[in-house]
Amino acid sequence: MSDKLQAVKGMNDVLPADEPLWRRFEESIGSVMRAYAYRRIRTPIVEPTRLFVRGIGEMTDIVEKEMYSFVDSLNGDSLTLRPENTAGVVRAAIQHNLLHEGPQRMWYTGPMFRHERPQKGRYRQFHQVGAEALGLAGPDADAEMILLCQRIWDDLQLTGVSLELNSLGQAEERRAHREALIAHFEAHADVLDEDARRRLHANPLRILDSKNPAMQSLIEAAPKLIDHLGQASRDHFDALRRLLDSQNIPHRINPRLVRGLDYYNLTVFEWVAPIGGSLLTVCGGGRYDPLVEMLGGKPAPGIGFALGVERVLELMREQSIQTESSQCDIYIVHAGEDTVTAAIQASERLRDAGIDVLMHAGGGSFKSQFRRADASGAQFAVIIGPDELARGEVGLKWLRDAGAATGSGRQQAVPLESLADTVIDALLADEDDDEFDLESAADEGVPGDRRIH
Ligand code: ATP
Ligand code: MG
Repeated sequence: MSDKLQAVKGMNDVLPADEPLWRRFEESIGSVMRAYAYRRIRTPIVEPTRLFVRGIGEMTDIVEKEMYSFVDSLNGDSLTLRPENTAGVVRAAIQHNLLHEGPQRMWYTGPMFRHERPQKGRYRQFHQVGAEALGLAGPDADAEMILLCQRIWDDLQLTGVSLELNSLGQAEERRAHREALIAHFEAHADVLDEDARRRLHANPLRILDSKNPAMQSLIEAAPKLIDHLGQASRDHFDALRRLLDSQNIPHRINPRLVRGLDYYNLTVFEWVAPIGGSLLTVCGGGRYDPLVEMLGGKPAPGIGFALGVERVLELMREQSIQTESSQCDIYIVHAGEDTVTAAIQASERLRDAGIDVLMHAGGGSFKSQFRRADASGAQFAVIIGPDELARGEVGLKWLRDAGAATGSGRQQAVPLESLADTVIDALLADEDDDEFDLESAADEGVPGDRRIH
């Protein structure tokens, strides 16, 4: 028997090799959220179980069978690892009276937990990026959410992500539709699976959400909620569609789109994309005007979306979205004990100038150090040897083909005191084809991460 320790099934390690992809994604998200003036909120990963029961709804897949819930043995509280974060954000907004200051535009990212059957694109710990706008009732807020999503796809240079749209109207309108829906499904009760039979009278709308292939044609033929909408709901939907048209956002109306939460109303939307040959939802959202009051706050409208990070990353992989894979700009090679102080000194001065430096540690021949330097993806190696150091100099060696214009493998002596300036000039000369913004690091002469814009 092997007792090798393994991660929990369905919960993945994200290894350093995946960092370039994650960083590219996270930088896009950060800049798009700022572009729309959304501010980040961080709420706990563990919340009281009843928050999700009330905030998601009892008759949902998540609450019925996917939650990691446990009793806090110290005080008997019933707690749950968050399966999604809308409920947590709304709870925080109520608890801290955020709406007192006016409407709130917020975003979050982090791990979510659902006890699902693990498969490609479906994990037990996965990540979401989401946004919530509270206190805004109009279709302009809905349009803003959708434009924000579109900008994420554009910023990541993803193609083939398409928008599906529906309106759930208001509770009264759903009641009229509900009777028609129950009648339709009752007439074909033999086709219904166990979940569907259980939900038939409690929440028949949920049946439309089913992924059971045997029920798809029955679902396809079901009465459409959109035909039961009143004037106000239809006006909201039409206004949103006009705004989307004005910004050239194509969308398809999908009358079967009902989404996972019980308290969605009016606008619901999903972004779908072909991943691994099948069409998957990468992002889902909608309006949830009743939720704030349901969770104990003063009534306030809300709309939000959640995007599945792993699915978007998979799409980025499939579409070969370019990422910056080098570990550093400069790899410092040096002679060992005699040069370590100078090597650390030079590394720190380069970092002061905003340059990313990997300083070799652990000794070894120059040859083996150059192998590491090459593997690091650095543009240049800086070589610090005792003889050069005695003259106040170091060596600067071109490592990459990008430097081939001036001859790859080229090396030049550089006075130690002008090393940072020389390196910045050399990196700028080499960077025609990448997105580094060394200029600002050079101009401002301040330390800082110039990859964050
Ligand atoms: P599905 O119908 O696929 O089960 P859902 O309605 O449960 O999705 P949401 O709760 O709307 O999903 O979550 C938003 C997004 O988060 C999904 O569109 C998907 O991209 C992602 N997501 C949901 N569950 C998982 C999971 N178990 N593993 C990975 N990503 C997930
Ligand atoms: Mg699900």
